[in-house]
Amino acid sequence: MSLAVAFKALAAERMAEEMPLVEVALRLDVDVSTVSHYLRGDYPSEDARDAAAEILKEVPPFSLWAWLSRELGENVAVEVLKWLADWEAEVLRDEERCILCGRCTDRCRFDGCVGCGECVRACPVNARELIVESDRYRFRMSPSDR
Ligand code: SF4
Ligand code: SF4
Repeated sequence: MSLAVAFKALAAERMAEEMPLVEVALRLDVDVSTVSHYLRGDYPSEDARDAAAEILKEVPPFSLWAWLSRELGENVAVEVLKWLADWEAEVLRDEERCILCGRCTDRCRFDGCVGCGECVRACPVNARELIVESDRYRFRMSPSDR
């Protein structure tokens, strides 16, 4: 769990630059004193934060999403991924295959695409593909990877 919490702490550092600590605490479902611990570096450990930062550099968000949402709960995981997204994500839709069912839109929890891959998994006719790119990698998630 401390690794998952390290993702929260990294997100909290960025969030605290943009909003009051009370808001950060609300969004991360912790109390304000916990956010203060995150920001002071008391908890979680530096090793856990470093490991989380390395994972973010190497692992695509669509591979991270299921674990992160299971560990943190979906609402908190949405916040964490949104604030830590140092990558570009783009979904490609095959218009020939798409049956306009709307499941992809219903399933998406984000305002802009962060590459969680949920819509690719949800599409019943394999009409979606996802490209995620950072300065370290370029990954493609195809329907066969679901
Ligand atoms: S568009 Fe798809 S991959 Fe992008 S955030 Fe929404 S559900 Fe995730
Ligand atoms: S889930 Fe697939 S078939 Fe349905 S609207 Fe989205 S892309 Fe089209």
